[in-house]
Amino acid sequence: MSVETNSAGLVSVVVPAYNEARGINTAIRQMAGILEGCQSNWEIIVVDDGSRDATYRNICELSEQEPRVKAVALSRNFGKEGALLAGLEYAAGDAVITLDADLQHPPGLIPDMLAKWRQGAQIVHAVKRNRNRDSMAKKATAFCINKIISGLGGININNSSDFKLLDREIVDIIVYQLPERQRFFRGLTSWLGFTEDYIYFDVDDRLEGESKWSVWSLLELSITALTSFTSLPLRIVTFLGIATLLLGAGVATDAVLSYMKGQAVSGFATTIITLLLIGSFIMISLGIIGEYIAKIYEEVKARPLYLVKASNGFAKAPTSRQ
Ligand code: UDP
Ligand code: MG
Repeated sequence: MSVETNSAGLVSVVVPAYNEARGINTAIRQMAGILEGCQSNWEIIVVDDGSRDATYRNICELSEQEPRVKAVALSRNFGKEGALLAGLEYAAGDAVITLDADLQHPPGLIPDMLAKWRQGAQIVHAVKRNRNRDSMAKKATAFCINKIISGLGGININNSSDFKLLDREIVDIIVYQLPERQRFFRGLTSWLGFTEDYIYFDVDDRLEGESKWSVWSLLELSITALTSFTSLPLRIVTFLGIATLLLGAGVATDAVLSYMKGQAVSGFATTIITLLLIGSFIMISLGIIGEYIAKIYEEVKARPLYLVKASNGFAKAPTSRQ
């Protein structure tokens, strides 16, 4: 990978967008302006993730004025992970930058990312310096999940974001060589290795509207993140089993000793507590095992992560891995 090739190369910007009609024009214009200032050859690919508003129409209109802005419309809302993957598949760039449509990932950092890429970084991670704009619940969930995955999955995703620059080699690996359906883009890009570099940014307020993540979709993503990077929860099941066994042994010894001393075996409360404890351990364990089985089921079904309904501005659709 020579420096000359990089500076001459095409840079793609992939923007997943779900119901972003109100702000998308401003955001894309801002991104285009910044790209224009630092890179002659660029394209912006907006992936409309099944929006119910005018997002796709707006991008198509922009695309008429500026053919380097292209659009892909998914057949329904597949979630950000699917939209990101679709964008990576359509992107033709020697470097591909992924960023949000709401300007919470400041496009002003694109020149810095490109500079790091030109210096040889194959993945540039943009790391959040603050999370002041996130709700307490989101901060807490993100903190726990990131800590667990970083600690156990052997990858560092603390304060990481989906704002990244990926070299073509990395994009091809993500698109063609990673067979899994359950995807956690942030984790996967950290797991890959290669030459990484980091830049830091403050999370701005959303340009328009509200966060598209519901508590449920965040929970889903967290479970996918956990199950794809660590099997520790399964081991917890084993530990719960051992803990229950020890507890049972303790209670049994106590009962036998009391019996030998001729005392009445103490009672009812202990039995109920033990039953409830063991009952909940079993339910939790089944739940954990169930989550892993559900993920295996998803993988075995091997359904595509997204379906494309329409696209605008591409000479031809990419050869899909799906
Ligand atoms: N997004 C998407 N599909 C979804 C949810 C979100 O493509 O199902 C996009 C959204 O339009 C935005 C980005 O993913 O460009 C990040 O979403 P959001 O700003 O709602 O998340 P937050 O910044 O709160 O993490
Ligand atoms: Mg956002």
